[in-house]
Formats: sequence, structure tokens, C-alpha cells
Amino acid sequence: MAETKGKVAVLAGDGIGPEVMEATLKVAEATEGSHGFRLEWKRGLVGGAAIDASGKALPEDTVELCRSSTAVLFGSVGGPKWESLPPNEQPERAALLPLRKIFGLYANLRPAVLYPELTGCSPLRPERVAGGFDVLVVRELTGGLYFGQPKETVKKGSGERAVDTMVYETHEIERVTEVAFRAAAGRKKRVTLVDKANVLESSLLWRKTVKGIAARHPGIALDFIYVDNAAMQLVRDPGRFDVLLCENLFGDILSDEAAAVAGSLGMLPSASLGLGNFGLYEPAGGSAPDIAGKGIANPIAQILSLAMMLEMSFGNRPAAESIRGAVAGAIRDGWRTADIAAPGEKCVGTREMAGEIARRVASRGAKG
Ligand code: NAD
Repeated sequence: MAETKGKVAVLAGDGIGPEVMEATLKVAEATEGSHGFRLEWKRGLVGGAAIDASGKALPEDTVELCRSSTAVLFGSVGGPKWESLPPNEQPERAALLPLRKIFGLYANLRPAVLYPELTGCSPLRPERVAGGFDVLVVRELTGGLYFGQPKETVKKGSGERAVDTMVYETHEIERVTEVAFRAAAGRKKRVTLVDKANVLESSLLWRKTVKGIAARHPGIALDFIYVDNAAMQLVRDPGRFDVLLCENLFGDILSDEAAAVAGSLGMLPSASLGLGNFGLYEPAGGSAPDIAGKGIANPIAQILSLAMMLEMSFGNRPAAESIRGAVAGAIRDGWRTADIAAPGEKCVGTREMAGEIARRVASRGAKG
């Protein structure tokens, strides 16, 4: 295996970001120790914390830090303190969106995993999620309806006319499809393209292009589902899916739906990939101001984001598997933060949960 080396930009951000990041760095340290590698971890300011320090949510030195890094481990940004700022200066809009743009992050991966022991966290009836599930939503992030031109509102008669454009080109579809097929190869080997090919021209191009890519991956099964049916099946039987490949708007909606049926936001990581190995890895949830500073946030979303980073940006799948195994083991053995505890169940805090996961990662390494 190639040596795991390089620099990580650590941007903890606001709210629970700094707490879960500190806890996660302990797991990173344990993983480095047990898997025999060492990365360079460099902290930078982002979001509200950066506004307070420098007046900008994404200071130039943070951008430079990211530019000189292989990956960004991101916490979360935003909170009530900055909500009165003009929309364009708000932490999420002024930090995350520019980061996506600057680094051309075109593929967003959101695994929604429900562990068998946590089926009670899902809003779905127990018989629908018995045994848990593991769905990965791969969302195209830089094209489609959110960016297509024309995009405008013009006067028309006594009213107005608004237009958004859903536009895709072959190369945009190809690169995110490759990501989906590569991800499926390490999972249950099935990609489902979510589209609306019965009414949308762009969906026809998606189908044609994805079929072409599928021919290069004979070991991966491909099927198709209309987006309305996908939304329905996710609440009827989420376990039937492996990788859901979606254009931008469909992915935006379905990745939130998948997260909702998986239960707690505190468990769900995400990755946004750019060219080469570059990626930004962050919890699917936000800065959770309601629990920030209390030491009770679930660090698992951030810890699993670390695992995705080690696998996708540094090519170290064994290290990632070791972290995922430690998380699954801790859950299996009854470790719970407040968000995933059943009524009356004993809870631990952020540090204790991460400490237990770090301990398991370290002892796995010792076993070889
Ligand atoms: P949120 O995702 O922060 O929280 C929603 C609920 O989930 C809250 O009850 C919270 O306590 C809980 N939760 C989230 N993460 C958790 C964790 N790790 N452990 C336990 N519980 C957890 O959403 P919100 O309240 O809509 O947004 C709060 C702030 O976060 C806003 O300022 C918003 O703009 C920002 N935000 C940032 C990002 C990002 O940085 N990528 C994403 C979404 C929202």
C-alpha cells in the first residue's frame, strides 16, 4: 500500500465543531499509532470563529492552508451569534459554498447507516428497519438546476417569470458516476441511478452516460429508479439500496431523507470530492447550538468523516475500516451519547465516546 502521508487542514468552526473535532483528533492519533503513519494536522479558522477573529468567514490564510493540504477535515459553521449578518456574510454561505467552488468539489457522498442496535433511533417502524441499513447517496454537487443558466426572474405582463435551468454535460455526469461505481466496488456492488427519465431530457443523458460508465465496471450491477419512487422506497424499505447516484437537486433532497430515516445526525459523516485526491470531510449535521459547549455532542459523525478522509484522500482503507469497526463495536457494546440513547439508557459525553473508539482502534492495531 502507498504510504499515508501529507497535510490535513483542520477547520473545526463553530458550535459543537471544536468539541467533536478535538475528540476526533484523539481517534486520529490512535489510528496513526496503530496503523503506522503520521499526517501533518494544521488548524485554521473558519465560519463564525473566523468572522470574530478577522471579519471574514473564510480568511485567505485558511484558503491557502486548504490549498496546500491533501484534505480538509471540517467541523461545522454557524450559529445564532452570526444570524443577524447579511445573508452573503453568514458563515455557511460565506465559508462552505466558496470552499466548494474554489476546490471544485463535484461529488458529495453521504452514507446513511442505521446500526442494528440503533433501530429505535429511526422514525420508521421497527419491522421496516430490522437489522439496520447502509445506503450511500452520491450527489452531483456543482451542476444542474442550482447553477444552470439562464437563472432569472423577469417582469411579465402584470406578474413575473422565474426560470431555473437543469443542464448537464457528459463530462459532469461521467466524473461523479465514476465516484459512485468506485464506492460501490467496496460495498454491495450495486448502483441505482435516480432520475426522472420519463419527463426530463437531462435524465436521458444521465441514463445514457451512466450506462456507458457501467460497461467499464462489469462487477457492479446498475439499475434505475424515478426520483418520486426513490423517495417512497427510502421510507418503505431503505435496506434495498446500496449506492444511490443522483443529480444535484434529487441528491440534496434524498440525502436528507436518508439521513432522517437513519435517526441521529450525530452519526452521519459526509465527503465532498474534488479533482485528484482532494476532499472535504464533515458531519452531515450543523453546529448544533442547542447542545454546544455541554460536552454531550455525538462525535461519531466527525470520527466517521475522518475514516472517509483516510480512505478517499489518503487511500488507507485498512485505517478507515479499523475506525468504522471500532465505532460499530462501541455501539454494539452499548456505548451511547444522549442523541442515540433509549429512554433511561446510560449516556456518555463526547470525550468518553471518542476515547472508547480510540481505545478500540489502538487495540485492533496491536492485534495486527
Ligand atoms: P443542526 O444540524 O446543527 O442540528 C439539528 C439537531 O440535530 C439539533 O437538535 C442538534 O442538537 C442535533 N445534532 C446535530 N449534530 C449532533 C451531534 N453531533 N450530536 C448530537 N446531536 C446533534 O441544524 P440546525 O439547528 O438547523 O443548524 C444549526 C446551525 O448550523 C445553523 O447556524 C446552520 O446554519 C448551521 N449549519 C451548518 C452546516 C455546516 O457547517 N455544514 C450544516 C447545516 C447547518
